[in-house]
Amino acid sequence: MVNENPVAGKPVEIHSPEDHCSFCASRYFETPPEKARLVRQGDRWERQDTLSAERYFESTAEFRRTGNMFEIVTLDYWRKNYGYKMTGARQRWKEEYLSTPGGMKHILDIVRYKLLQEGKGEEYVGKLSQAEKLAVAEAFFGGAHEMIIAKRHFRDGAATDADLFSSGDLTETEHFWYFRLTIDAIQDIILANRYVRYISVFQNWLRPAGASFDHLHKQLVSLDEWGASIQNQIGMVREDPNVFNQLGVNFAAHHNLVFAENDHAIAYAGIGHRYPTIEIYSRSAAGRPQEHSDDEVRGISNLVHAIHAAMGNQISCNEEWYYTPFDAVYKMPWHVLIKWRVNVPAGFEGGTSIFINPMTPVELRDRIVPRLYRLRDEGKISWLKIAEECHVDPNPLKYYLR
Ligand SMILES: [Zn+2]
Repeated sequence: MVNENPVAGKPVEIHSPEDHCSFCASRYFETPPEKARLVRQGDRWERQDTLSAERYFESTAEFRRTGNMFEIVTLDYWRKNYGYKMTGARQRWKEEYLSTPGGMKHILDIVRYKLLQEGKGEEYVGKLSQAEKLAVAEAFFGGAHEMIIAKRHFRDGAATDADLFSSGDLTETEHFWYFRLTIDAIQDIILANRYVRYISVFQNWLRPAGASFDHLHKQLVSLDEWGASIQNQIGMVREDPNVFNQLGVNFAAHHNLVFAENDHAIAYAGIGHRYPTIEIYSRSAAGRPQEHSDDEVRGISNLVHAIHAAMGNQISCNEEWYYTPFDAVYKMPWHVLIKWRVNVPAGFEGGTSIFINPMTPVELRDRIVPRLYRLRDEGKISWLKIAEECHVDPNPLKYYLR
């Protein structure tokens, strides 16, 4: 029932630099313009913002932040509903970017690509004036649906198309910077668009989990509402401020489902989900990722990374972030769910609304734990308490403290 090991992959020829999809390192011009990239020099990591097109290939990006070419919530939506106007900084970036030949070419090329993908046809695109094409490009600069793209497509020494580079293939340090850049994006989006009330942050890994590219990336979709799930969770916190401890970690601990913890985060096998789900909670008093210290971010990042590493690259999954909305007065803890998309709801579920999760939380825990021990023994993940080593004091999440 659990389809973890796919059929053997097809052989692939690996190129250096990689050019296997539009997110690959030799194809920087196939995404919207870069809002930021992280570059590494030895042990030093540096963020470079809004490079000109001419400078894209002067360095290798460990992670890149760009707009999403096909927005779920569009720039037009923000304009029509709120009279949104691009900030001065975004406007200046757009003008500077378009002022170089490379920048102008890049933008006109991807506008063309986007319109063709949307089924507009060569003839329609050919008739558009430059000004009309640049109007389409506004969203690349002023939009609030973004992507964080990792550098690698395949693992070192990949032989087949099953050797994809997953979150668990990053080092802990790289994974921290992946989180850091994502959190920087959250911060920047809310500064650039004051109508945003929540940003849905997620990572779809492999096609069954909804990924359109087999190349590691996260997405940030900005919303003018919290969405039903956050609404429910905030409702629960209003009823019982300690609910995430009481019905979450404390409850999981009593059922021996907590299987990993470090100073800043705690992980357990979740109960009551449609898919096998691992829940990782920040222990911080802060309720939003951008309010966490670097050490706290590192703590939760390490635990999320350890779980991806334990899962390997063959389980399709959604990584979903939840945290206190920007305009909420009730605080909930930042937490990350990793849902294994190993079962496909079908006619039975559709007809009955009875959802069969193929793996019990105990089975899920027992799948992960031996792999965590092995990774720790091999020195691939940093120190954390595993399984019976976890002490789990009552109420380990401190979000409810002022
Ligand atoms: Zn790629």
